[in-house]
Amino acid sequence: MASRGILIVLSGPSGTGKDSILKELRNLRNDFEISVSCTTRGPRSGEVNGKDYYFLTKSEFMDKVDSGDMLEWATFCGNYYGTPKHELENRLNEGLNIILEIEVKGAEQVMKNSSEAVSIFVLPPSVQILKQRLKNRGLDSDEAIEMRTREAEREVALAKNYDYVVVNDNLKECANDISKIIDSEKLRAIHRKNIIKEVLNNESVVSR
Ligand code: 5GP
Repeated sequence: MASRGILIVLSGPSGTGKDSILKELRNLRNDFEISVSCTTRGPRSGEVNGKDYYFLTKSEFMDKVDSGDMLEWATFCGNYYGTPKHELENRLNEGLNIILEIEVKGAEQVMKNSSEAVSIFVLPPSVQILKQRLKNRGLDSDEAIEMRTREAEREVALAKNYDYVVVNDNLKECANDISKIIDSEKLRAIHRKNIIKEVLNNESVVSR
């Protein structure tokens, strides 16, 4: 019987490289899904509705909030972002590990409401490097970059509230650190209920 999956909250300032880290993590393991968030932000070039985000109007977004369909939600740089509850519980029960790539206010809500969530904060090597990365990716205006840099400083100050802190200095090492965290978390007693039950039922279990 599959053990319940792990709910992982991954935060870090915009431009820290969370998307690249998750792509790298995919090269290391296949036992996780990344939750697709809802946002009122317009799609960036190349972003696909339903894959990168569910792009909603503000009133569609608030309808979901009002009907209790959001696990958490927050505003970030003038836009709304939220995690739809849809299927999350079923997927975890099926044993899938789910990663929520969300900003700090939403992460705080998840940490407060779910004792099982594991939180990881990704630090940039420095705020200066972060600003340069935002410039290099060429997706945001100068004004948006300034706003995101200020937001980044506020977010980094909250890193101490997370279970784990990793640094994205080297993409491969950072993804490897997160993979090790997932492996350790899988051994926590809360995720071992089924294996404990099997031993109590005199079944023989193999190391997994
Ligand atoms: P971006 O506009 O760069 O895609 O995302 C901006 C910020 O919103 C990032 O820090 C990202 O992690 C966060 N974010 C994305 N989806 C969600 C969500 O569902 N909930 C919350 N609270 N933040 C999110």
